[in-house]
Amino acid sequence: MTLLNDPSKFSRMIQDQTTDIVTTARDAFNKGFTKNMRYRLKNLKNFIKFLEENEKEIIESMYEDLRKHREEARLEILIAINHLKYLINNVRKWSEPDMAEKRWIDLLDGLYIYHDPLGVVLVMGSWNVPLLTLVPVTGAMAAGNCVVIKPSHTCPAFGNMLARLLPKYLDPICYPVFLGGIEETNQLLNQRFDYIYYTGGATVGKIVHRAANKYLTPTTLELGGKNPVFIDSSADLEMTAARVMWGKCFNSGQACIAPDYVLCTKQVEKEFIQHARTALAKFFNNDPRCCPIVNDFHFKRLQKLLRGLNVVIGGRVDPLDNCVEPTVVSGVSLTDPIMQEEIFGPILPIITVNDFKEAVNFINRGEKPLALYIFTKNAVVRDYVIDNTSSGGVTVNDTLMHLIVESLPFGGVGLSGMGCYKGKDSFDTFVHKKSVLVKNFSKIIEKANEMRYPPYSSRKTDILAFLLKYRRGPSWIWLFYFSIFFIGFVVGFLIFNYFALLHYTK
Ligand code: NAD
Repeated sequence: MTLLNDPSKFSRMIQDQTTDIVTTARDAFNKGFTKNMRYRLKNLKNFIKFLEENEKEIIESMYEDLRKHREEARLEILIAINHLKYLINNVRKWSEPDMAEKRWIDLLDGLYIYHDPLGVVLVMGSWNVPLLTLVPVTGAMAAGNCVVIKPSHTCPAFGNMLARLLPKYLDPICYPVFLGGIEETNQLLNQRFDYIYYTGGATVGKIVHRAANKYLTPTTLELGGKNPVFIDSSADLEMTAARVMWGKCFNSGQACIAPDYVLCTKQVEKEFIQHARTALAKFFNNDPRCCPIVNDFHFKRLQKLLRGLNVVIGGRVDPLDNCVEPTVVSGVSLTDPIMQEEIFGPILPIITVNDFKEAVNFINRGEKPLALYIFTKNAVVRDYVIDNTSSGGVTVNDTLMHLIVESLPFGGVGLSGMGCYKGKDSFDTFVHKKSVLVKNFSKIIEKANEMRYPPYSSRKTDILAFLLKYRRGPSWIWLFYFSIFFIGFVVGFLIFNYFALLHYTK
């Protein structure tokens, strides 16, 4: 009997394998390897080397799984490298203990916030941007954790490439790559982790959250949703159309922050469609096969979503090659199936509204999106939409671009996710902020301490309450102003004396 026709034996084998990986990583963490700053920096730099030296293999693996355009794959690598460089430049500073704000009563104490790594972290990536969704691995490494790296089983070529090449650059004990399908992933989720960072759909997100609950493991869920685009009549519609259609077609629309649907007035719709047609012709030369879809399941899903809609641009599909032409549909209503789920493909529905306030009401009737896009030159409209909606992030007058700004946190809210990464958040997510209060043995302080020792009395509590009452401590900015004043005073005094001396010696 082979392992495959004995499911219980197979399951036990996976369990042993997952236990082994996590236990080995935990032993390494406990020995303190990853806490060492030089070790962290060396591995982060090696990660960059891995990306630079294997660019061709990475691009080819993404093409094999997704038929991802070579240049889009290059951008994914570039974003990952930038993120790593940002971490390398800052990790020493972020790892130092922070000094906490002092009150008057704390003046003689030391108040610190330490940044302790959590232990063994699991990072689960998604298939659509297989490298980008593993970028949180680098934040966990910078923070001093061991990381189990779990690429999506839907991109096997990418996963195999990673499992083959990454151990040549990163310590495979502290940063193991785990490959496996659904059963293996569920076995992995049975293990105890100190943090789970998941990117993918909400259905599996709930499975991950349930598994994390067993040990109350903190979790980040990077999910998706329907990202609205509001186009105001004041916008430059030619540029707007180019930027929206680029965002919609990037990775064949299979991006978590792809614009999902457009809200605009009837008049704006008419002009937008004309410009969108021109932009698409420029981008793809009317090639109906420019947007390959990952698999049969998603291709058929998109085909079904298109049924019965009023196609105003594109609309052709190629079932032999699972391609969907960039498509714009109009006259869409909230009850159409295309408005019931995240589209995740190059189809853009337009819904007409009377003005920006109606657009905001429309957005607020749905779940909180991961991204919101506003196109306008009018600051009142822009601020109204930003202030009256809730979303993971907002880009004004462009699409997708907030993702690549290193200093802006990236993450969802509500059903589009919880937690975030990028910039300092990539580090903060994976550390515990440990409060450290350092007291001394001063006799004066001990006198005050006596007020809290038994035997209790209301007089002692009154004194204690007076001492503990919240009063802001001295602000160092006043010390700075005082020093400037003092230096000015001394200089003024010396100049005065100098001239006085000159005057009297004449
Ligand atoms: P997916 O199928 O790759 O699944 C995500 C992860 O879960 C993978 O590691 C996969 O191996 C694992 N998995 C899948 N099914 C499982 C199961 N039944 N049990 C245990 N593990 C399982 O990705 P997906 O869910 O199709 O991803 C698409 C979604 O991800 C979209 O909604 C998209 O918006 C979202 N997404 C979000 C972000 C973000 O940063 N917020 C980025 C990319 C994608």
